[in-house]
Amino acid sequence: MYTLGIDIGSTATKGVILEDGRSIVRKALAPVGAGTSGPSRVMQALFQDAEPPLTENDISGSVVTGYGRMTFKKADHQISELSCHAKGVFFLLPAARTIIDIGGQDAKVLKLSSEGDLLNFVMNDKCAAGTGRFLDVMAGVLEVKVEDLGKLAHQSERPSVISSTCTVFAESEVISRLAHGEKKTDVIAGISRSIARRISGLVFRAGVEEDVIMTGGVACNSGVVRMMEDVLKVPIILPEIPQFTGALGAALYAYERIKNKNEGCVKSGDGRE
Ligand code: ADP
Repeated sequence: MYTLGIDIGSTATKGVILEDGRSIVRKALAPVGAGTSGPSRVMQALFQDAEPPLTENDISGSVVTGYGRMTFKKADHQISELSCHAKGVFFLLPAARTIIDIGGQDAKVLKLSSEGDLLNFVMNDKCAAGTGRFLDVMAGVLEVKVEDLGKLAHQSERPSVISSTCTVFAESEVISRLAHGEKKTDVIAGISRSIARRISGLVFRAGVEEDVIMTGGVACNSGVVRMMEDVLKVPIILPEIPQFTGALGAALYAYERIKNKNEGCVKSGDGRE
């Protein structure tokens, strides 16, 4: 049985097809999110050249999650990204107790029980600082690709001090550091440390309990991950597919709904919508 999970974020759309609630047989990402062609591009990518061949008719159930979930009418159900991230991460890493998810437009810290239930969360969705948007703006100013920020940060010997927390002021500060001859790599390390400090405030508020997992697109930035470890003083574990945990959780919920229905019972409290 195949189930589909779609996560429509602010910056990127992700999709996962799961077989029998166990193995990921397809995944696809479009680097554009809510209100764009992202969802249709992901759907196309999931099914084209699929091996074994798959069509939308082969999908037994689907769940959509993420910031743009209200705009996607093809899925059977909508479930919040908090529930889906918790589900996806716990499936991959059952020792997870703290999840730091940094996406394109928000950052959240989720606390899980040993059974994988979402105990509580704290979130920043009011300000670009401490989100992927901050890094995207800085990459633009520095004329580097966002994918290269981690590698460049590792080359730094003396990270710059970026003291502004606001994205707009930090942008001016970065320009001024470069104008004063500071190396790009040092400025990038400074930016990574600045975002790590900002996020650590959220993590301390939620409480640090190991295993600490990082997800979302910013988990692909090894410079930020290392700075987070420095600030939090705990190792950070990355799932193999950090940007897909929401879509994976959605596909798992789709599977559980069918399974529970087939068994004649729908568990209460499953999938806070
Ligand atoms: P959302 O779900 O809000 O759309 P994502 O979790 O997909 O966001 O994360 C998007 C952010 O992740 C981008 O703003 C970017 O800063 C960062 N990002 C995405 N891909 C990479 C990558 N390969 N390397 C480093 N950072 C990345």
